[in-house]
Amino acid sequence: MLIVSQRHRRTEFIMRYPLAVGLLLLLAFSACVQHTGTTVTPIPASTSENQTEIAFAEARNKMVEGQIRGRDITDPRVVSAMAKVPRHRFVPPECLSEAYTDHPLPIGYGQTISQPYVVALMTQHLALRPREKVLEIGTGSSYQAAILAELTDQVYTIEIIEPLGQQADATLKKLGYNVHCKIGDGYYGWQENAPFDAIIVTCAPDHVPQPLLKQLKDGGRLVIPVGPPGYYQTLWLIERKDEQFQSTNLGGVAFVPMLGEH
Ligand code: SAH
Repeated sequence: MLIVSQRHRRTEFIMRYPLAVGLLLLLAFSACVQHTGTTVTPIPASTSENQTEIAFAEARNKMVEGQIRGRDITDPRVVSAMAKVPRHRFVPPECLSEAYTDHPLPIGYGQTISQPYVVALMTQHLALRPREKVLEIGTGSSYQAAILAELTDQVYTIEIIEPLGQQADATLKKLGYNVHCKIGDGYYGWQENAPFDAIIVTCAPDHVPQPLLKQLKDGGRLVIPVGPPGYYQTLWLIERKDEQFQSTNLGGVAFVPMLGEH
């Protein structure tokens, strides 16, 4: 049974700025080339590979200062992970110049890589300790999976769109991340590897999948957006204590819908 707690934690991007959230959603569904706004940090294309990497590192530091530490991300391990993972290696080539900007980006198949701040916020609420086992639903670009892999050595991730899952697996391997990837419907979790200390869902179902609750350890945390497709959802932190589940509303968000028949 779910007990909805009265603790409502407010976050930057949420209901206070529904217009901004709507705009982010719009941006997510348009190709990168179509929105070359003033927020873009230009990455020169003609410099040598080394210089380009230095430019990306600078853009990443700026992202961490402004979008991560400058907001309410205080967990030093999460901040370090955001500072370390090369986000530009997870975005499509046409979006390279926008890799470190403050919004989601298209990754093909109608899917998106989340805004850096949202990745950091969800990760912070997972409160992962080293060697804890974490499951992600919605591998996508695998950027979130790489962030998780900086925090623990037991990362499992499921993607329903096969080509995306295959590409994600290849990206993670190329960068040296040891993440267990699977193609399938994440609604049902990953029973063979359950239970998990933490589960993060990066697509939005219209209800909390019961299999995911069952696959949480006692003391486990589930971070999940829940709500109708194509609109705002509510981000929840659900903590398991024995057979009880305590839910905390983390605010309004806009995610792509969870696919599959449930
Ligand atoms: N975490 C990703 C964000 C991906 S967007 C990243 O860091 O880039 C959400 C992803 O969830 C999409 O790739 C989508 O295909 C996937 N998805 C949607 N429904 C799913 C389901 N039922 N099971 C597993 N993955 C799903």
